[in-house]
Amino acid sequence: MDKTLNIIGGGMAGSEAAWQAANAGLKVVIHEMRPKVETFAHRTGNLGEMVCSNSFRSDDHEQNAVGLLHWEMMQADGLIMHTAHKHRLPAGGALAVDRDPFAESVTAALKAHSNISVSYEEITALPESGNWIIATGPLTSGALAEAIQAETSAEALAFFDAIAPIVYHESINMDVAWMQSRYDKGETEAERTAYLNCPMTKAQYEAFIDALLDAEKTEFKEGETAGYFDGCLPIEVMAERGRETLRFGPMKPVGLTNAHDPQNKPYAVVQLRRDNALGTLYNIVGFQTKMKYGAQKAVFKMIPGLEDAEFARLGGIHRNTFINSPTLLDDQMRLRSRPNIRFAGQITGVEGYVESAAMGLLAGRMAVAEMTGRSLAPVPNTTAMGALVTHITGGAEAKTFQPMNVNFGLFPPLDGVKSGRRGRKERYKAYTDRAKADWQAWLGQTMLDAAE
Ligand SMILES: Cc1cc2nc3c(=O)[nH]c(=O)nc-3n(C[C@H](O)[C@H](O)[C@H](O)COP(=O)(O)OP(=O)(O)OC[C@H]3O[C@@H](n4cnc5c(N)ncnc54)[C@H](O)[C@@H]3O)c2cc1C
Repeated sequence: MDKTLNIIGGGMAGSEAAWQAANAGLKVVIHEMRPKVETFAHRTGNLGEMVCSNSFRSDDHEQNAVGLLHWEMMQADGLIMHTAHKHRLPAGGALAVDRDPFAESVTAALKAHSNISVSYEEITALPESGNWIIATGPLTSGALAEAIQAETSAEALAFFDAIAPIVYHESINMDVAWMQSRYDKGETEAERTAYLNCPMTKAQYEAFIDALLDAEKTEFKEGETAGYFDGCLPIEVMAERGRETLRFGPMKPVGLTNAHDPQNKPYAVVQLRRDNALGTLYNIVGFQTKMKYGAQKAVFKMIPGLEDAEFARLGGIHRNTFINSPTLLDDQMRLRSRPNIRFAGQITGVEGYVESAAMGLLAGRMAVAEMTGRSLAPVPNTTAMGALVTHITGGAEAKTFQPMNVNFGLFPPLDGVKSGRRGRKERYKAYTDRAKADWQAWLGQTMLDAAE
């Protein structure tokens, strides 16, 4: 059997996958198109280049899901996290790094590894045979994206994300909101009550439109084209087209009766839809936006029922190549139609340096297990790694799948801990304690398997 693992893309995910696989004894070839072929965001030919911010976000592994992901990657000897800590800059509770020395260090470590070689070339077609991981990221080159699209269908590969804000269900005031699908459509009770509705009076709607128009927005970066305009306009752009546009679009009040006040017809209704199988997260339907994060919080908290909303993620629209992982990948991150190919990193529909590197770490380990004929226990969904991979390969709604950051809403709820804002500190500590124990057990199990 060919024991070479080929990885396309030497970014966050590809670098981490290569490191994990090479340390486990596999020969690895990283195929990286830079510096021969450039992207609009990368500046160097380094592996593991950070394209924008120099932060890996919170390093708090007790109270923050991304900090927990850092911790889990450190436990698994992750190259990206260990190198980040080596080049750390003062940034309060965040893990910020000196970006060029960081990427130079990642590159040097990979090139010095006796099991790794780097081939500087663009891969333009899907490989027919051998073991491959595609980790080409949000700026996957055009030729490869076309090849992926030919294999998976046009709908299954997106070139822009259109992220609506996601709210923790427990932070929504259900004394104001109610569950109902428009015109009570659906065969089952669950379908007839699939949407969570927040009503607005005329005065509330007018104030909301004013706030949308006034809010600070982010601009597209140079090189990003605004191709999102077909079909997923930011809500503030819809509002700019006319004050009533939203009331005839995502906020139309028709087919809905306020369960708390059936006699009064709402002037507008904001709808939220379940975002994960656990039912802990709800996205605000049609509310993709380019508003700045601070502005989003202020504006969305004006929605009745969301005054105390806590956001698992805020909205955005970016140039971003990603596949519909829930339909295309199996739980081992393999392309169902071509199981010799795994996907990893941002192209799988996770978002951010840390999440992308994390999915590279898992894909690398999964490839090792398969190529050496060992079984790998499923990653527990109580860990940050497991919660994320479970979400993209099945937990997320496939029809509305959009990139996801790691957050506690992806974790199975814990019995016996306080819900709500007051219990948050204790609850997050309980989540991270459980995750750490389960991650260590999984890593131990993996090592036992390897020793057999
Ligand atoms: C403009 C922009 C700004 C961003 N800002 C942030 C931020 O501030 N913070 C954050 O956490 N995340 C940010 N992201 C997301 C970030 O890029 C990803 O989270 C992370 O880099 C993804 O890691 P990855 O390994 O999946 O992809 P990348 O790190 O992009 O690595 C993919 C690699 O594949 C190579 N490649 C592409 N196609 C081919 C091919 N056909 N053949 C060979 N090689 C190929 C690329 O050159 C690249 O090196 C940003 C993304 C963009 C586009």
